[in-house]
Amino acid sequence: MTLVATVFGVRDGAAQNMAGPSSSQPKRVLMLFSEGKDVPGNIMLEQAVRAEMQKASTNRIEFLTEYLDASHFSDEGHLRVFEDYLGKKYSGQHLDLIVAFPSRDYLLAGALPDALFPEVPVVFVAINELEVPLAISKFGVTGIVQRYDIRGTLGLIMHLQPDTHRVVVIGGTSESDRAALGRIEEATRALEGIEFDFWTNRPGSELPAAVKTLPTGTVILMSSVQRDVTGQRFFLSQLAQTLAPAASVPVYVLGGWVLGSGAVGGAVIAPEDLGARTAQLALRILGGASPGKTPIEVATKGTPMVDWRALQRWGIKGSRVPADAIIRYRPETLWDQHKDLILISLSVLLAQAITIAGLLAQRQQRRRAEAEILNQRMELAHVTRVSTMGQLASALAHELNQPLGAILRNAEAAELFLQKEKPDLDEIRAILADIRKDDQRAGNVIDRMRSLLKRRSLESKSVDLGELLADTITLAQSDANARRVNLTLLIPSQLPAVRGDRVHLQQVLLNLILNGMDAMTDSPEEERLLTVRAETTKDKKVEIAVSDCGTGIPADKMKHLFEPFFTTKANGMGMGLPISQTIIEAHGGEIRGENSPGHGAVFRFTLPAIDP
Ligand code: ADP
Repeated sequence: MTLVATVFGVRDGAAQNMAGPSSSQPKRVLMLFSEGKDVPGNIMLEQAVRAEMQKASTNRIEFLTEYLDASHFSDEGHLRVFEDYLGKKYSGQHLDLIVAFPSRDYLLAGALPDALFPEVPVVFVAINELEVPLAISKFGVTGIVQRYDIRGTLGLIMHLQPDTHRVVVIGGTSESDRAALGRIEEATRALEGIEFDFWTNRPGSELPAAVKTLPTGTVILMSSVQRDVTGQRFFLSQLAQTLAPAASVPVYVLGGWVLGSGAVGGAVIAPEDLGARTAQLALRILGGASPGKTPIEVATKGTPMVDWRALQRWGIKGSRVPADAIIRYRPETLWDQHKDLILISLSVLLAQAITIAGLLAQRQQRRRAEAEILNQRMELAHVTRVSTMGQLASALAHELNQPLGAILRNAEAAELFLQKEKPDLDEIRAILADIRKDDQRAGNVIDRMRSLLKRRSLESKSVDLGELLADTITLAQSDANARRVNLTLLIPSQLPAVRGDRVHLQQVLLNLILNGMDAMTDSPEEERLLTVRAETTKDKKVEIAVSDCGTGIPADKMKHLFEPFFTTKANGMGMGLPISQTIIEAHGGEIRGENSPGHGAVFRFTLPAIDP
């Protein structure tokens, strides 16, 4: 909670005194310190004020800095020398604002006579009301009092270390030290179950030994220590650097500038934040606001802050640290160190992943399309098989007529033999054997036709190629006879088996044979030669070539042979070769057509052989 209240009456100055140099000229701000240059808290605070003012101001700002150095030169004489020095140095100089950093028991404003900077407005920043300058400028004073957040710090202690039952408070004896201790005492009244031990009467020199033997369950809270009981002066951050690493228990602090000394942390006054707020107030005054009418801000809320290394030392889990606390000195993670690189790499990876996913999706789509085409081709294969069988039907009917006629004639002959008084039974047995043979012949023809007419998907079985070729030639033989084509089958004695679908392979062969016979329709009878040749290749494949002595393939048609619906025939469908190609490729083979060196064409296809 931030309390804002006017706690001091301030003298109003004359507003017209604000009329400084024109806005194109830099604003001149004097930073006036009670201490020397070496007080860590003030160094941090000054930097924060400068940085924020330069960042937020449209004007260029010229900073001037003066240090009273009261810790080292505390006598009245030094103060007068300082006053004299300031008076001479700045006489005739224009100043737009004084930012005062009073501290300890040196109230700059009270000590320096009004006459020094009578026309210049003042903004101060103090940790204690005691430090507030009562008068420095006729024109007016405003500022920020940022008190130590004692309740917040005690709350943080209990959050991080709930087993704490004793707090040793180390404090000093100066006026400001006593004021801080007074506030701690006030805060402890509200807390039950915790014992508070105020170490204010121990000389600073004895403290390092004393903090080494504190029992567990105890913590040290360092209040303000400007001066010890012997009157020796101390800088709190230096004292904390001596005590915190040596102490047998965790040390807590109230100022952000003491963090890093080995202390665990506290709800501290954060110099960066306080500096930024002071700068904002200073800019408001530089912009024309009247300090006399601007209330002094009194804030009591600190910033919870912890030192990661100290948490580790005392085994305090990170999960105990409140969510709003700032963690200092945590080693940088890989992420902290290479955030940009990691982000770039991640985006590259993401882009890659998206591209790969896209390509995979495309490939899947293509595969689906390919599978669909194969399905459709298989359907068409059936249709063309039926049509091929249609072409063969009349020839096959003729082939069927032969055994059927023979059966009839043999049956009639048998009847005649039976009419005899003493039928020759041996003769009748021979006739019946002939009938059985003819019947099987007719049955085989029908079986072959039926298996070709069945709708079926691709099978993968061992296929005896020799038998398949012979069967197919038999099937085509009647048609060849009718067309006066001389069919020749040339196969080596040893032909390896192939893996595949018998019916589909037969379909390819029949298609090539019928195409070859079609191409020889206009050839003289003695040239109508169609040869089917099978041989094993060097790379363990079987090659089957169907060659004819027909028209051959015109050069310009060559590249269209395997395209669907390409035909040069009046009743052609143009699907025979594309379907043959689909079937052969599905078997892992290849098919191609070319012209023979003499005349006519030759179509070859290969099939991988099964290892014997
Ligand atoms: P279709 O026989 O219905 O025309 P195909 O796909 O089997 O369909 O054949 C396509 C075309 O290829 C044929 O129309 C023909 O022009 C050509 N062709 C096929 N085989 C031969 C061959 N042995 N000699 C000459 N041309 C051929």
